[in-house]
Amino acid sequence: MTKINVITIDGPSASGKGALALRIVNNFGFKILDSGALYRLYAYFSKMNFSPVEIINQIKMNIIFNNHKNRLSIVYKEDDISLELRSEAIAKLASELSSKKEVRDALFNIQRNFYDGDILVADGRDMGTVVFKDAKLKIFLTASPEERAKRRYLELQNRGQEVNMPALIADIKKRDFKDSSREISPLIPAEDSIMIDSSEMSLDEVFSFTESIIRKEFN
Ligand code: C5P
Repeated sequence: MTKINVITIDGPSASGKGALALRIVNNFGFKILDSGALYRLYAYFSKMNFSPVEIINQIKMNIIFNNHKNRLSIVYKEDDISLELRSEAIAKLASELSSKKEVRDALFNIQRNFYDGDILVADGRDMGTVVFKDAKLKIFLTASPEERAKRRYLELQNRGQEVNMPALIADIKKRDFKDSSREISPLIPAEDSIMIDSSEMSLDEVFSFTESIIRKEFN
């Protein structure tokens, strides 16, 4: 298989994929694909009662991804909807919709089209196993459910949202189970992926480990 210039980062929710992807692209000047955001956008537009065809058109025509000051923001017709997309209600609906074949198929080409030959960092659940099987470098980033719940707790608290730790852990375990047991594109590491357990690693440590691999792989 001819390999393409893509770095995939897959893993369960709150494992730090997004933060690692951003750190890599901002350090090296690569492009980024946050595939989870596409599933969240699908959920967002389906809540607005758009038909499946209209949802895809909205994503293609009216959405802009802005990578600015270490933050990836999502703009819909001049409104920054990033925060709304991060809500638990959207996450839940995105997770439900993501088990449907027609939804995954509809988003497949949009994801592939993020690659134009320049080095792309793509984070999600099935980047290395389905969407970019031909990626040159595949990373599977994980951490224990408790550690991931702790990270999500801090994130939500910073945003001023009320949080309940046992509920967060239960929610993360439930979503892990759903993502890894679904029939289509389950969350599993690609055979040729490098596994990183970040339970006891800081983002800096995970980044410096991946940075050396990237330098080797992409000169
Ligand atoms: O990564 P994030 O939490 O933003 O993803 C939202 C939801 O979209 C996940 O719970 C997962 O079910 C789904 N997803 C997916 N495949 C991807 C990315 C996200 O099924 N490649």
